[in-house]
Amino acid sequence: MQRVHNVMEDAVADLLQQQWRNLPAACHCDGCKADVYALTLNRLKPHYVRMPVGSMYVKAHLMTVQSRATILTALTESVKIISADPHH
Ligand SMILES: [Zn+2]
Repeated sequence: MQRVHNVMEDAVADLLQQQWRNLPAACHCDGCKADVYALTLNRLKPHYVRMPVGSMYVKAHLMTVQSRATILTALTESVKIISADPHH
C-alpha cells in the first residue's frame, strides 16, 4: 500500500504557527497548542492525498482565502474550548 497523507494537517499547522500568538488563548504553552491543533483537525474535514503526487497542488488549494478563513474560524473555536477547560 502506498502512503497517504492528510494535507489538512499541514494547512492547520501552518496557520496555527502563524496565528498562535494572536489567538485569544488562556495559555500559550506547547501542550495547549497541541490540544488546539488536535481539536481543530477533528472539527475540519480531512483532505487525504496519495503521497507524494499532487500534494503541493492540494496544499496550495487549502491555502486559498476561503480555506484559510474556514481553518481560522475552526482554530478560534478550538481556542475558546481549550481555554475554558485547559488540561493542566
Ligand atoms: Zn497550557
